[in-house]
Amino acid sequence: MIASLRGWLNRRRLPARHALLDRLLVNQALSRRELLDRRATELAALVAHAGANVPYYAARLDAGVKAAAARGRVDIEDLPVLTKDAVRDHLDDLLARDADRVQARIGHTGGSTGQPLAFWYDDAKHELMRAGMMRGYMMSGWRPGQKILNFWGARQDVVAGGVFGRQFGAGLGDFIAAERTIPAWEYSAANLHAWTRFIQRYRPTLLQGYASALTEVARFALAERVAMPTSLIGVYSTAEVLDDSQRELMRRAFGCRVFNQYGSREVPNIAWECRRGHMHVCADLVWLESRHVDGEDRLLVTSLTNRQMPFIRYDIGDSGRLLDGECDCGSPFPLMEMGMCRRNDLIRAGDGKRIHPSYFNRLLYGWTRVRQYQWVQRAPDRIDLNLVVDAPPPPADIDALARRIREDIDPGMHLRVRYLDDIPRTLSGKHRFVIGLPS
Ligand SMILES: [Zn+2]
Repeated sequence: MIASLRGWLNRRRLPARHALLDRLLVNQALSRRELLDRRATELAALVAHAGANVPYYAARLDAGVKAAAARGRVDIEDLPVLTKDAVRDHLDDLLARDADRVQARIGHTGGSTGQPLAFWYDDAKHELMRAGMMRGYMMSGWRPGQKILNFWGARQDVVAGGVFGRQFGAGLGDFIAAERTIPAWEYSAANLHAWTRFIQRYRPTLLQGYASALTEVARFALAERVAMPTSLIGVYSTAEVLDDSQRELMRRAFGCRVFNQYGSREVPNIAWECRRGHMHVCADLVWLESRHVDGEDRLLVTSLTNRQMPFIRYDIGDSGRLLDGECDCGSPFPLMEMGMCRRNDLIRAGDGKRIHPSYFNRLLYGWTRVRQYQWVQRAPDRIDLNLVVDAPPPPADIDALARRIREDIDPGMHLRVRYLDDIPRTLSGKHRFVIGLPS
């Protein structure tokens, strides 16, 4: 009852966002064919716009592509890939000439590799991002007006004017928005205690946050036997790789389903997990491609909605695959699967082969006293395992681990185990499980 009142108030306060949500929801009723046809039309319109109004693309798209865009059909593979370096080097040239320069603001992302990247955004992009997030949450059964609690690691967002605005404190705005944010970059016992108590009091419908932050909260709740409220129907993990052991821990602690979501600040709402456990690509908002390069399935994403700063075939630095077939949840959106790795997360062996991070993540299955871990390659024949533990594992286990790495990867690989109080995060507060040598 209160939730529906909140939903109504929220709709009155944020009419633009809700109008966008309504439009996005309609797209879920399209057939796959209609969705993909529309995607092709949107791409051509985007490319025509970029070729005419965005200096970076005006200079780089050839005449044939511009002509094809004007005719309403573009082959995406004819378009150049946009690298992060190009975004860094040509930020001003990527802002459309017809963009409102008073409205245009600079956003920042730390990126999974810790390299900061700046991008343009405006209110329209922000509202569409939030509407897309609402639609994504609705895949869990959540409805507008029901409470969401965010655990967020990026400091810049948890301030007035940031992505999530105010934190903790309850004003009328917070009541209506039904959303609170906990700045979660310091996992002390005192903080974890306060956060779990807050979840109990606030009784949210959804939790949302970095996989590593939610894992810490889950681990604390289980260890301290803090009962989580039955109001919870879903936990949304974002921004970091979510592994199976984290998923299971959260499911046990919070007593509800765990959903993955995929997007970035510069291109939000790329894919959302449905109740059947499948990742659906938001094909009305993005065109996602996967290219097999150097043994890796590299994702390229095109934002179909961003005219202010077009991202076309943007090499986002994540890996994953597109999947054929339909999901019986009824969504027409195509399916994908996230890769475990991001670009710099590959460990290189002496003979040139590269090892996927999921191999290293699996090595520690069953090491239940480990709170956090991180594999860091220091040299072609040296790898560190950084551990934050309740109690160190027996030496025999470490020896077995070192032996297995020598057998599986490289007979000359040396393993060093380091015990730390905490594992430092990237600039944006993300945890990386595996860090390879710089490429
Ligand atoms: Zn589905």
